[in-house]
Amino acid sequence: MITITRERQWAVAPGVACALAALLLGVLAALPSTAQAQVFEEFVDFHPTTEQFEFDRWPYPLQDEINARIRELARQHPQIARAHHIGDSQQGQELWMIEITNFDTGPAESKPGVWFEAGIHPDELPGLPYMRYVIERLIAMYGEDPAVTRLVDTRTFYILPDVNPDAHRIVLSAHPAWPGHKPEEHPGKDLNGDGYITQMRWKEQPDDEEYRLLTEGQLPDSPEHVDSMGAVWRQSTDTRWEMKDRERHWTGRREQPDYNRQWAEEWSAADPAAGDYPFSLPETYAVAKALTDRRNIFFFYDVHSANVGREFMIRPLSNAPHQAMHHEDNDWYVRLAAAWAHISPADPTLSDYYTPAGTGGTIGGLPPDWAYLHQGIFGLGGELGGTGRDYDGNGEVLPDELERWHQEEMGGRYAQPWEPFDHPVLGAVEIGGPHVSSQGQFPPAIGDLMEDRTDKSFKFLMYAAGLAPEVKVVDVVAAPETDGTHRVVATIRNEGWISTYITRKALEISGATTQAGPGAALKIRRREFPVLVDIEIEGGELVEGSSHQDIGHLLGKLAHIRQWADGGEEVPSKTVEWRVRPTGDGPVTVRVRASAHKAGADQQTITLGEER
Ligand SMILES: [Zn+2]
Repeated sequence: MITITRERQWAVAPGVACALAALLLGVLAALPSTAQAQVFEEFVDFHPTTEQFEFDRWPYPLQDEINARIRELARQHPQIARAHHIGDSQQGQELWMIEITNFDTGPAESKPGVWFEAGIHPDELPGLPYMRYVIERLIAMYGEDPAVTRLVDTRTFYILPDVNPDAHRIVLSAHPAWPGHKPEEHPGKDLNGDGYITQMRWKEQPDDEEYRLLTEGQLPDSPEHVDSMGAVWRQSTDTRWEMKDRERHWTGRREQPDYNRQWAEEWSAADPAAGDYPFSLPETYAVAKALTDRRNIFFFYDVHSANVGREFMIRPLSNAPHQAMHHEDNDWYVRLAAAWAHISPADPTLSDYYTPAGTGGTIGGLPPDWAYLHQGIFGLGGELGGTGRDYDGNGEVLPDELERWHQEEMGGRYAQPWEPFDHPVLGAVEIGGPHVSSQGQFPPAIGDLMEDRTDKSFKFLMYAAGLAPEVKVVDVVAAPETDGTHRVVATIRNEGWISTYITRKALEISGATTQAGPGAALKIRRREFPVLVDIEIEGGELVEGSSHQDIGHLLGKLAHIRQWADGGEEVPSKTVEWRVRPTGDGPVTVRVRASAHKAGADQQTITLGEER
């Protein structure tokens, strides 16, 4: 038996007026400071030691070292960390994911989970150190920082630092400082003997605006050249090279898929970068499987680097305007965007649909869209590690500003200065440029700048994790009846920000809503997991009510704020009733447990006869 009561608690609490104003004004500082809302200033100012995180590390470690560190952390901190081998790369490198939660507060899957990953695009390097930093900080600050401790006690973090280690091995090992550097594995040739295969540039006419660019040691009369990531480029005009196809010389496969077009949502066979079928690559398949197997995950975050001098977030939908998303789901993204703008001022949250590049066209097969549209969870992409500095404040980082940043702030460590060289075929050219990619990508930063950026990312991700739904058994009361039985009433409430179904999209694709959606007709595998309530009795028996019941969903505060304004009917709290009869003379103990796959679990035990 379920009775539903409308909870007015949040509607009358003074914080709600503030919260509503904050939503309307986008002023995060006005958010109510509750245990559930991680306010960024709550985090202990953390200055990791070099042992925990090397902010000056360059070049970055390769997969074997990352995997070894994940396993080492799991060995050293068995109470809060476990290492999982979730699959292998095309070239057989192991993909190790770390799971971080306090196992004393319950199994990992009994708590709301978040999935963080990086490295889909190999020359977009910032995600690698950023994810390693999140792992180190969560573990190092557990028990030290109350905000981190609470999150690790009540959430599960799944972190895969590198989705695409094969391509990273190619990109990063181009750097001669890497012990395994093999120049012969990289396209081009070190003509000037400085130890680096970089680029050559020259102008055919002195007044040409653009340089012609080639990988050092390759020839312009060749119709193609291969970049440091192994992509084949062709010359389409006198001065430009365009990517010919996705062939990678190091796999020998034509149409090497783009790991960022491989995901099932809006996957397009017409796109040569999409692969033979969704998740045809072992790495994307491993992620999809690991994530789908864990039904507690409510948030998926995937790091890229657009390398434009700003750090921004990409949200769904990539194929439709925001109005096509249910307003409740959109509210979450609005809130996240406000949080990101608060943490990293001037850095926006966009969707591909609205960005100039995306206008009028859509991109298919993107991971965050897959997470939202297929899994019914929140998905987000970070475009991080904005390289360079916008010295003149015109909104973009121009090549001379990139050069100035690299020389003045990075000590010139990611690129060789351009030096004149007398080329046997081309004549006077210059040789130099970035170490890791002929497309001009730089790693994000080193030292203080890296520390500042990783700190911002960390706080943002902790804020997102803090918004999880949290099912609580807030009250169990019992009262004796005249027939010798006891009436037991439990109040179950969602004390988190997100509703227990996570997204309205999850209801739609599960066919659990009357709203039209593919799931409604197809009855596809369920993506929403309702709240289940169980009762266990010692010394007595159940005479009315079910011992195991599905009470549907409970609204989160974010939805409730909106619902309250709309006068809607759904609730954040429900009560469940039973009648219990003692079977002997001893005490009768009643344990009520509430749980939902993505909203955690909670329980309370009372002894009948001692009821309040
Ligand atoms: Zn990318």
